Amino acid sequence: MNPLLEQWTTPRQTPPFIEIKTEHYLPAFEEAIKAAKQDIARIVNNPEAPNFENTIVDLDRAGEKLSTVADLFFNILECDGDDAMQATAEKVQPLLVQYENEVYQDPDLFARVKAVHEQQEKDKALQGAEKILLDKTYDAFVSGGANLPDEQKKRFAELSLELANRQLDFGQRALKATNAWHVHLEKGSPRLAGIPESALAIAAQKAADKGLQGYVFDLSAPDVNTVLTYADDRSLREDVYMHSSTKAYGGEFDNCENIKAILKCREEIAHLLGYKHYTNYALRNRMAKDLPHVYKLLDELKAAALPAAHREITELEQFAQKQGFEGTFQRWDLSYFMEKLRQEKFNLDMEKLKVYFPLNQVINGVFGLAANLYDLRFEKSEAIQPYHPDVQVFEVFRKEKFMAILYLDFHPRSTKRSGAWMTEFRDQHIDAEGNDIRPWVSLVMNFTPPTKEQPSLLTFNEVNTFLHEFGHALNGMLSEVKYATLSGTHSPRDFVELPSQLNENWLTEPEFLRTFARHYQTGELIPDEYVEQLKNMNKFMAGYLCVRQLSFGYLDMMWHTMPASEVDDIRRLERSIFDTVEVLPVVPGTCMSPTFGHLFSGGYAAGYYGYKWAEMLEADAFSLFKENGVMNHETAQKYAEAILSKGGSMDAMEMFVNFRGREPKIEALLERDGLR
Ligand SMILES: [Zn+2]
Repeated sequence: MNPLLEQWTTPRQTPPFIEIKTEHYLPAFEEAIKAAKQDIARIVNNPEAPNFENTIVDLDRAGEKLSTVADLFFNILECDGDDAMQATAEKVQPLLVQYENEVYQDPDLFARVKAVHEQQEKDKALQGAEKILLDKTYDAFVSGGANLPDEQKKRFAELSLELANRQLDFGQRALKATNAWHVHLEKGSPRLAGIPESALAIAAQKAADKGLQGYVFDLSAPDVNTVLTYADDRSLREDVYMHSSTKAYGGEFDNCENIKAILKCREEIAHLLGYKHYTNYALRNRMAKDLPHVYKLLDELKAAALPAAHREITELEQFAQKQGFEGTFQRWDLSYFMEKLRQEKFNLDMEKLKVYFPLNQVINGVFGLAANLYDLRFEKSEAIQPYHPDVQVFEVFRKEKFMAILYLDFHPRSTKRSGAWMTEFRDQHIDAEGNDIRPWVSLVMNFTPPTKEQPSLLTFNEVNTFLHEFGHALNGMLSEVKYATLSGTHSPRDFVELPSQLNENWLTEPEFLRTFARHYQTGELIPDEYVEQLKNMNKFMAGYLCVRQLSFGYLDMMWHTMPASEVDDIRRLERSIFDTVEVLPVVPGTCMSPTFGHLFSGGYAAGYYGYKWAEMLEADAFSLFKENGVMNHETAQKYAEAILSKGGSMDAMEMFVNFRGREPKIEALLERDGLR
């Protein structure tokens, strides 16, 4: 008896997590892959001529059991992945890779998909979600090389392998370079002045782990951040800055050759697939669509932010001089004086805010907001099995309609990876019999746990994270689409953060805070002046911070647009971009590309602009709420209808226009950041 392969008789046929044991997964995968292969064979061997229904839709529905088993397994692996689960993952991965290769490199299957695609090119019979599903399916094959002549297929496979290996090596070298240096300070060293107790405790632990007395600061992001923000000792800041900004540039872990090889592979892949640059290829299914749209956003923001950044830096230098600073203001002085100025401008201790955010009240607040805006009702369920005893389960209704199961998993565990994320154990879709299959949505977080003395009190950032992930959850729970491939959060990468980031906006709205932000002991409401300060804090150094993000966006676009054969001196090329937005003296010898994992080992190649793109969208979308009232029910209904319910089943720009009444503009973002 393998519960993963049985018909579930649990309430709402939810996964019987308590009965599912780790040893059930591998045999379930083997069975499910067999069944999925039979589904694929049925499509391939269908005697009827290929059409949308018997090929594209059937493919979307193929391997239903495999999707369920895989969704369960990989979600549990991330949030409760003990050694046995990890060991199973190593056995499961090759099976899945092999299965996917078989599907996407099956010439007979591709011939059918291609025939449907060609028919559509001719008669344009499909529209809306059907057309998007066809395009997405065809693209999944083509971007894997299925449409290439045999000789090029071989080259494509070589390039894909080389690219994967180089990206992996890039990440490993960056990590090794990060671990290759640290500064060790004795107890009582004057160089420690300014560094807060909490950071010292971590540094003492790091020292102890290395068998040392005193404190160790390495080149990990939190350590660098701590030293640059707090260390009074300027030479310590310079030391850490210089080592951190020259990592993997030259020396033992040099990444320059990897960058060149990665860009060459990406360019050749793009060429094989018929694109001029890697950027055109990467943008093919994004909302921004093409390079001019990306540059339009970057340039407009730059025009507003660069003058502001210059003003801010001048103000900061003057502030530093008043504090007795002498000499040339350098990069390693920036965070330090920014923090000092921030403290002077905003007399707000973030620790003090926590008493207004006990977890249970925050949950009520977040649920209450969704109730007010989207008519959602959350009923706690004791009958539905959680995947871990710490997890809370809710049935979610919209008016009388059952919408989703929501799993909430708040606190850290040794078997949970760090960070916070929304995920689904099942996507919403309409099945072959026409039933509306509702989604199983899960939010996994790592919030401050309760202690014996006090309940879980969230930091301001944690409440923000909760709202962010809950925005993704709304996208999942309110989904009303036909095809699983297009449901919920399956929208373009530069659009998918709109619902999440939009939902963060309420955090500084008094109308929302007043519904739940009360002192956990006295019941006193969060003071208005705190809320005001929090809002203003958003604008602090906003010009500089924006310019910094823009510089990364421009750099990303340059690397992935210029001919790879012309990539020679990495630092010189990087400077050619940074010099156009520079607000501080250039530090000789520094270079950031060799550790820019987003571009060279992660998934943000030709996508870094997406952060700002999504911000433009959500700020503009929220400005309509502000015009009509942040709790305006009608606006929220319109938003739910136009965007949340549609997932990726509609063109992203069309969805936005349906809500906002026009295409997005950057004015709202500039206004929020105080840049106009
Ligand atoms: Zn997100």
